[in-house]
Parts: sequence; structure tokens; C-alpha cells
Amino acid sequence: MSTVEGRLRIAVQKSGRLSERSLDLVRDAGLRVVKGNNDLLYRVENYPIDLLRVRDDDIPTFVADGVCDLGIVGENVLEEGRNGGPTAQVIMPLGFGRCTLKIAVPPTLDYAGPASLDGKRIATSYPRILRRYLEAQGVSADIVTMRGAVEVAPRLKLAHAICDLVSTGATIEANGLSARDTVLESQAVLIRSPVSPEPRLAELLDSIIERMSGVVASQGAKYVMLNAPRAALDRITAILPGAGAPTVMPLSGRDDAVAVHAVCQEAVFWETLEKLKEAGASAILVLPIEKMM
Ligand code: ATP
Ligand code: ZN
Repeated sequence: MSTVEGRLRIAVQKSGRLSERSLDLVRDAGLRVVKGNNDLLYRVENYPIDLLRVRDDDIPTFVADGVCDLGIVGENVLEEGRNGGPTAQVIMPLGFGRCTLKIAVPPTLDYAGPASLDGKRIATSYPRILRRYLEAQGVSADIVTMRGAVEVAPRLKLAHAICDLVSTGATIEANGLSARDTVLESQAVLIRSPVSPEPRLAELLDSIIERMSGVVASQGAKYVMLNAPRAALDRITAILPGAGAPTVMPLSGRDDAVAVHAVCQEAVFWETLEKLKEAGASAILVLPIEKMM
């Protein structure tokens, strides 16, 4: 595959757990995505950018080799792809696609930590990550690589334990296994190529990354406005979750109270509002933030 002259490329998962949120991020960054006649490639109509839609396993290599300039992929896939060759650079975690790679064992295995895996056979789709984990733990075990259905391996006597992705744990439990130690916490990340695009696209690339950072930063963030008695100002700003220095403005015709505006980086719960009221705040408004830079 060769890079299309004069266009940036973003690698996203074609269909799977990351596809929808990846497209959302691209769209929220202001790129108008249009489906072409080619299923592999979506075009962005307002910028010289294409989306390459591929299997998630291919994304790290495409980005590392410069076939794509950016990519959205799970840390688990990125870590498993590390092979000593050129690597994609992680720009930021994206807050979705969260899952955990865990050791899970059947009740027949007396498990008291990673050392219990010594001399055992472990089935996984993540042999490299597991190998590194076991080495770090000083454990010597056999690894059986399976592409899917890892959770049936103990029942089939293919392995004594497994190392697999877990989000709710339902699959693991349905197979009579219990999840134990965590090997890797994962979420989707934005990665960029070590290969720079042609100079006139470099600026566009930087601005797309900047916009995506803004989208991610604004997720969950809220704009809070309230009125506060001057005397309670310190107490009230201390209650606002994850707010930097708030803006404090006079209220016309009132010397004893001010208006407070703040960007809260963390979720604002009902409990927080109740505490603010108790502290004397009134006319509290919580607004979503669409963009942030
Ligand atoms: P592809 O056809 O692209 O290879 P896949 O079957 O490997 O797809 P999906 O099941 O769509 O991949 O999962 C994609 C990514 O979503 C995973 O690599 C992981 O980062 C993340 N993920 C989030 N929750 C889970 C989960 N419960 N199980 C598996 N992956 C999860
Ligand atoms: Zn995959």
C-alpha cells in the first residue's frame, strides 16, 4: 500500500468495539467523513485526509511504518505489536475502549499470585505481553497462543490458566473461571507515526491532534455557573470538582454576593450541587462543554 500524495491518513478499526467511538472522535474534531465507494477508505471532504479502515491488529504497524500518520487503537494491541522495530508514538489516552488483561484460573488451580503459575501452561492471545509480565514476576511458564475462545482452554485441558481481556467478567465466569491478577489495564490511545508527513501537511496534522486533545479534554468536563455570598467564596470554590481558578464577577446591585464561573474537569454529581447549596450557593447551572482548546 502506498501513501496517497498530498493527503493525511488516519487508521481506524473497520468494525469492532472501537469503530464507532473512533469515528465520533474524528467527527468531533471537525472532519466531515464521507463514505466512498471503497469500504477500506473513507474520505474527509473538508480536509485532505483519508480514513483507512482496517483490522485493529494492523493499525500499530501501519502507523509505525508511516503508511498512516495517525491511528486509534487499544493499548493492548499496541503493546502486543511491539517487536523491537520502529514504533508509533502514543499521543494520549482517549478514555474509551477500556478493558483489562487478566490472569484467570479454574477452581482446580490453587492460585495465590503469579508464582502459582510457575511450571504451568497459560493460554492467551497476547503472548508477548504475557511473556514480559511473567518475566517481570520471575515466573517460568509455557505460553499457548490462541487467536480466540481462550476461555475454553482450561476445560479442554489445553492450559492450566488463561490470560485474557476482561471488561465485565461475564465470559470468564460463564466458563467457570475466576479473574485474578491484572496484567495490563488498557484503553484506546491516539498514536502518531515517527515518519513526518510532507511539510505542507505537517501543520494540518498538528492541528488535528490539537483538536482531538480538545475533544478528549472536554469530555466529562462541565461549565458551572452560580451565585455565591462573598463570605462563602473560598468554601464554594473548594467544593467545585477539578476547577482551576474560577472567574468571579460582581452581581449588579449586590455587594454581598458574586457570580462564579468555572470549568470543572471532573463529573459534577447531584451530591456536589447539594454541597454547593449548603455552602450558600444559589442559581447553580451546569452546562456541557462542546469544545475546549
Ligand atoms: P478486528 O477485526 O479489528 O481484529 P477484534 O476482534 O480484534 O477486531 P474487538 O473485539 O472489536 O477486536 O476489540 C477491539 C479492542 O477493543 C480490543 O483490542 C480492546 O482494546 C478493546 N476492548 C474493550 N473492551 C473489550 C472487551 N470486553 N473484550 C475485548 N476487547 C475489548
Ligand atoms: Zn483484532
